[in-house]
Amino acid sequence: MKQIDKILVINSGSSSLKFTLYAMDGEEKLASGLVERIGSKSANMVYRRGNDPKEEHSVDAPNHDAALKLVTERLVAPGNGVIGSLSEVDAIGHRVLHGGELFKEAALVNDSVLQKLNTLVHLGPLHMPANIGGIKACEKIFGETPNVAVFDTAFHQSMPDYASHYALPDEYYRKYGIRKYGFHGTSHHFVTLATAEFLGKKPEELKIVTCHLGNGSSLAAVKYGKVLDTSMGLTPLAGVVMGTRCGNLDPAVVLTLIREGMSADEIDNLLNKKSGLLGVGGINSNDMRDIVKNAAEGLPSACLALNMWTHRLVFYIGAYFTLLSGADAIVFTGGIGENSWQARATLADQLSALGCIIDPEANKNLRGPCRISTADSKVAALVIPTDEELMIAKETFDIVSKTIK
Ligand code: ADP
Repeated sequence: MKQIDKILVINSGSSSLKFTLYAMDGEEKLASGLVERIGSKSANMVYRRGNDPKEEHSVDAPNHDAALKLVTERLVAPGNGVIGSLSEVDAIGHRVLHGGELFKEAALVNDSVLQKLNTLVHLGPLHMPANIGGIKACEKIFGETPNVAVFDTAFHQSMPDYASHYALPDEYYRKYGIRKYGFHGTSHHFVTLATAEFLGKKPEELKIVTCHLGNGSSLAAVKYGKVLDTSMGLTPLAGVVMGTRCGNLDPAVVLTLIREGMSADEIDNLLNKKSGLLGVGGINSNDMRDIVKNAAEGLPSACLALNMWTHRLVFYIGAYFTLLSGADAIVFTGGIGENSWQARATLADQLSALGCIIDPEANKNLRGPCRISTADSKVAALVIPTDEELMIAKETFDIVSKTIK
């Protein structure tokens, strides 16, 4: 059997291509970086060999094929590349936004998988063409090297129908696939496994509420290793207050805006790009650090943004705690969840009602993975750094090891 070791992870977005090359033996990051502003005159490449300082320079990358070519040339560059030739890459794992109902787990890419991916483009019109484009670019450059699609939605496919369906007539689900899918699945999955490891248990023994709090944020109620519910929906717009996204609204807000004369694209832009902390905070920033600082200085709009953020989060944690009939742990991850002790501290009072007692010193001073609840807290509060790229690499490794002889 062929020994699988080097895995390249690709996250191909609409105007960027992020990459990480791993040696799976020891889970070592050999190189990572991105090409950004693809298609524009100001395209730029950031490259980091292992833990060396980052290199950054402008590049000519009119499209994703050209961006990938630049990345691969850098990986094999004589003298300071990290591999001798591209044939050393054993498999490529791709982050794919949407698996719809067709993919309940990661899939080895072949013609039939590509065809199925094409039928899912309407569920992620901004991301899916770029995700599929990334796979095709790798097929061109790497030839026979296996590609694996790892879906943001897959981990949430275990949701029961009463959690995943909207209360609309069934024909809208059947005709258009309108239902809750959930996102950040790779992160919720990684954190579920890492929490079990941290607590010395199996995922099948634990009920946890995972809170991925970044610029985009979502929560999941994970019961014995399977998702029971999650806060994002048909798209990543639903749920909690995010950096620039509004999260849940009365759907009639959209109708009102339409009747006020706004187009679908204008409303899309408003709700996805101009709302959330950015829209409410009044400081032209979607960054939690700025919100926290301005709220501490007493700026009313920043206080309102932080209070709304906390209120909605407590609402979801409480709901998921109840759906799980009690939880063993509440877990924080993502840029805010891992780094902002001030944001986590805003939850402390209300979480105590669930028997989850945050230790203020541990919350302030520790960095993850760590416990931030007191020793006698009935429910553990943990900070567990996520690593979506490593999770994609691991899933790719597993699938390729199983299927390629
Ligand atoms: P994305 O969804 O883009 O991956 P991230 O997970 O990187 O987002 O999270 C970005 C958020 O994390 C920002 O709101 C930022 O304020 C917050 N953040 C990142 N680092 C810190 C830090 N050291 N302290 C407080 N907040 C931080």
